[in-house]
Amino acid sequence: MIEQLELTHAALEALEYEDGVLLWGGRKVTDIAADIGMTPFYAYDRARMTQRVAELRAALPKKMHLHYAMKANPMPSVVQHMVGLVDGLDIASEGEMHVALETGINPNDVSFAGPGKRNDELSAAIKAGITINMESETEMRRIAALGNALGRQPKVAIRVNPSFELKTAGMKMGGRPSQFGVDAERVPAMLDEVQQLGLHFRGFHVFSGSQNLRAEAIEESMDKTVELVLALAATTKLETTLVNLGGGLGIPYFPKERPLDLAALTPSTTRATERLMAGLGDVEIIMELGRYLVGESGIYVTRVIEVKESRGSYFAICDGGLHHHLSASGNFGQVIRKNYPVAAVLNTGAQKTVSIVGPLCTPLDLLGDRVTMSELAPGDLVVVLQSGAYGKTASPESFLSHPSCQEYFI
Ligand SMILES: *Cc1c(COP(=O)(O)O)cnc(C)c1O
Repeated sequence: MIEQLELTHAALEALEYEDGVLLWGGRKVTDIAADIGMTPFYAYDRARMTQRVAELRAALPKKMHLHYAMKANPMPSVVQHMVGLVDGLDIASEGEMHVALETGINPNDVSFAGPGKRNDELSAAIKAGITINMESETEMRRIAALGNALGRQPKVAIRVNPSFELKTAGMKMGGRPSQFGVDAERVPAMLDEVQQLGLHFRGFHVFSGSQNLRAEAIEESMDKTVELVLALAATTKLETTLVNLGGGLGIPYFPKERPLDLAALTPSTTRATERLMAGLGDVEIIMELGRYLVGESGIYVTRVIEVKESRGSYFAICDGGLHHHLSASGNFGQVIRKNYPVAAVLNTGAQKTVSIVGPLCTPLDLLGDRVTMSELAPGDLVVVLQSGAYGKTASPESFLSHPSCQEYFI
C-alpha cells in the first residue's frame, strides 16, 4: 500500500465543480485553458480579492487604511484591481513603481521600501512624489543629496528595525541584526538629521513579519509597535503624520493550518488606532498586506505529460513545476516541505494516490507529494490552490529554459 500524506484542506473542500469540471472565478478551468491556448498558467479570481478586502474592512476600524504590497503579485491587472479596493500601494523597486503609477494612483499613497535602493530608483521616486521608507542613515543622506540635485523635497518615512520579534510568524523580522530598517535605538539621532537635511518627514514604518496565522501574535506585535512608534515620535519636533504598522496576516497553506480569526483582530486594531490618534493627533494609520489580499484568489494550472509507475508509486509528470511555482515546491522559505492543496480539474470519481512532479531534472521539482485525487491521465489538468501570491514572479522561470507561464485575470 502506498502511504497517503495528504489530509483534507478547507480550500479543497470549498472547490466547486460543474459537469465534473473544476470552476474558478465562475468558469470551467478547461475553458480557461482553451482560451489561453497553452499550459501552465496562473488564473486569478478578482471576486475573491474584492471579497477579501471587504471582509478585512469589516473587521478593522474605519481609520485603518489598507495598502497592497505589490511584490506579492505584481500582475498589472491585479494591481489595477487592487488600487480600486485599497488606499495605497507599497512598492519594492522602480519596476513596481512604473506599474503602480500606470494605475493612475495618487503618488502620495505609494510608499517605497527595500534595503538596497539604487540612486536612479530613488531619483525616480523623488520626482514622482512617492514616500520613501528609509532603511539606513546612509540611504537618508543619498536621498537628501539626490533631492537637492533635483530641486525637490523628498518625502520620507523611517523604517524601524524593532527591538522585539514577532513570534510564530512564517518569517521573522526584528529583534536582531537586520538589513531591513534602522535599529530602533538609532532612530532618535536619525530624526535630528532628517530635520537638518530638510526632508519632508511623514512618519514611521514597522514591518515585523509575514505569514502569521495567530491573532494573538499579531495583537502582541501591534501593541508593541504602537508603543515603539509613540516613543520614537516623542523624541522629535518633526510631526508624525503617517504610521505604517505592517501586517503579516497569513493564509492557511497546509492541512492543519486554520484561517486567521479576523474578528479577533478588531479589538487590537481598534486599540492601536485609538492610542496612535491620542498620541499623535489625526495621523494616517496603515496596514500593508500582500499575501492575505491576493493569495487565496489564485490557482496554478499545469497539464499532465506522463503518468509513470515506479516501484509501486505513481507520478504524474506535468509541464509546470518549481520554475513557475517555487513556493508550492517548498523551496521558498519553508523549513519542512509540505503540500499546498492540489486537485484534479476533472472530478472522475476514481481516486488514486499520486505524486505531482514537474519536468525539471531535479527531485526538488515536486508540487504534491503522495496526494489522493481523481485518477489522472496524460492531457489532464491539475491545479495548485493558494497560488495568488509569491507565485510566478517569485520563481526561477529561466531554470532549464522551459517556456514561461501565462497569467489570466478573471
Ligand atoms: C513583502 C512585504 C509586505 C507584504 O508581506 P505579506 O506577507 O505578503 O503580507 C509588506 N511590507 C513589506 C515592507 C514587505 O517587504
